[in-house]
Amino acid sequence: MKFDGYIKERWTENGLVAEHMDAKIVEAQAYDMMVSGKDSEAVSVLRLWRAQNEHEFDMNSFSQGDYMRAMQEDTEAELISKVLYPSDNHYEGKSLRLKQQYFLVSASLQNILKDHLRRYGSLDTLPDMAAIHINDTHPALCIPELMRLLMDEHGYSWEKAWDIVTRTVAYTNHTVMSEALEKWNEDLISRRLPRIYSILKEINQRFCGEMWNRFPGDWDKIDRMSVFSHGQVRMANLSVIGSHKVNGVSALHSEIIKESVFKDFYDVWPDKFTNVTNGIAHRRWLCQSNPELCSLLSDCIGDGFVMAAEKLSAFKKFENDESVLKRLNEIKKIKKEQFCAYAKATEGVSLDPDSLFDVQAKRLHEYKRQLMNAMHVIALYNDLRENPDLPVQPRTFVFGAKAAPGYYFAKEIIKLIWSLGKDIEKNPKIAEKLRVVFMENYSVSMAEKMMPAAEISEQISQAGKEASGTGNMKFMINGALTVGTLDGANVEMQEACGAENIFIFGLTAEEVEELWKKGYNATEYYSRNPRLERVIDSLNRGFNGTSFSNIASYLVKGSPVADPYMCMADFGAYCDIHAKAEETYRDKMKWAKMSLNNIAAAGRFSADRSVREYAEKIWGLKRIK
Ligand SMILES: *Cc1c(COP(=O)(O)O)cnc(C)c1O
Repeated sequence: MKFDGYIKERWTENGLVAEHMDAKIVEAQAYDMMVSGKDSEAVSVLRLWRAQNEHEFDMNSFSQGDYMRAMQEDTEAELISKVLYPSDNHYEGKSLRLKQQYFLVSASLQNILKDHLRRYGSLDTLPDMAAIHINDTHPALCIPELMRLLMDEHGYSWEKAWDIVTRTVAYTNHTVMSEALEKWNEDLISRRLPRIYSILKEINQRFCGEMWNRFPGDWDKIDRMSVFSHGQVRMANLSVIGSHKVNGVSALHSEIIKESVFKDFYDVWPDKFTNVTNGIAHRRWLCQSNPELCSLLSDCIGDGFVMAAEKLSAFKKFENDESVLKRLNEIKKIKKEQFCAYAKATEGVSLDPDSLFDVQAKRLHEYKRQLMNAMHVIALYNDLRENPDLPVQPRTFVFGAKAAPGYYFAKEIIKLIWSLGKDIEKNPKIAEKLRVVFMENYSVSMAEKMMPAAEISEQISQAGKEASGTGNMKFMINGALTVGTLDGANVEMQEACGAENIFIFGLTAEEVEELWKKGYNATEYYSRNPRLERVIDSLNRGFNGTSFSNIASYLVKGSPVADPYMCMADFGAYCDIHAKAEETYRDKMKWAKMSLNNIAAAGRFSADRSVREYAEKIWGLKRIK
């Protein structure tokens, strides 16, 4: 694939031809991974790509003495596939990232077209035989790149190429938060990818022309829908324009995108929009990570649930079976003990497996509100500092989270949670009733040990911000009870297990929106709730010798707005729901019954169901056999 250089256009007997001059050429080398599903007779190929300089290494220029240039071009090309950007739900407008996106898109598309041509002889049938999915906007350049290949390499007209592209490509949106929406600088794209730039311009000109005919004079609307605006290229708008289907990842999120980011597009193309709720690999998150629970399930309902997760629903029959509920509690205890051993080995902490395990494990982000969780822990700590003899349920709060390297405030929150844990450990009497542990280097392997050990799953994002969540489902299928807001897939989890088996609290997405419009004032809550006031005081005073007045000011006098994710507004309801959960936990059989109902209702959150829905609703695929 070609980077940099410039485009020379000239007229030939075949019309206008675009030539890419002075380009830096990078080659893609395929690395195939064979992937087979459990007990499947079929094997799929996951094709990965490695970038390298056009001819491995320019031996010629090396032997001619141009050592430095030969080395530099080699490493520049290699760099493209060397690193993965670690930020999550945040956009980084870096040149290397753009090159990575184009490299992967171009290699994969060239491969798809070559295969299709060899098998079917013509690209006219591409939309019938291939589905190309834009999973978030990161591969959105496949829209102009497929246009380029069809026109420049395979001789299609614009109109015919656009018809093929828009019948082949579909797009899944993963966020509505503006800081996470990809917007590339126009001049970066024009410098790095000059041919793609000119195709993007043409896509936009034609689209805006159409909209102008539909909504004459409505400049604002057309500017909102345009791919280009204020020197930037909006990849989400491009993805909607170039796709035949657009979906969100939970019922709530799929409704929200139709009313917010893509409202104008929804008005034009209502049938383009659909929903596919996310799912999890239940053979990993249940069968592999919790064999003890699987063996109880097999004893009760057989092992059909392994291949058909919806069969978990048969477990509900046992909700009043005391021996099953007892075994459920014993299994949870075993998984907690295993986690304690792991935490001892990795963090050097000794945790109490008889305490209530409350876990929040997910990337660290303000909207996910690990801070609100910490504020609740501080409130409990304050209660115990005032009266160490309070007859409370002993609890262990476990956090697992990585922050993006450049996300300063996220790291301040990690420091707060860690310091809070250390501070508590200095009070042995309080530490018997309250422990906080921040697990280092959170990863999938760690999550596989955490989910089965959890009794409370924290899913407390500000309503309207978490598109789906999948951690919520991993906890649920392992029998944890959710303390959560009505956000993302939590809404459907409540629908599935019943309101009596989940702890829902806080503002709804609509209420958040209303409060935001009317003008959110965090200090109102501060003066209304003495417990909250003491939390803010404690932050200012600090933990383990470190003041967190920076976090206190973020909550009460931050700029441009204090407490942007409304931890203060939801704090009261959050404490109340935790008190209710603690009360419920006193009755071990009732807790086990609720837990059983969560496991029995988790089947619909298997990725098997999600993949089936993509195949049916979006890719137009039929099952073989
Ligand atoms: C499932 C998973 C996530 C996603 O968690 P959410 O709570 O849905 O944000 C993130 N990191 C790891 C390691 C996971 O296993």
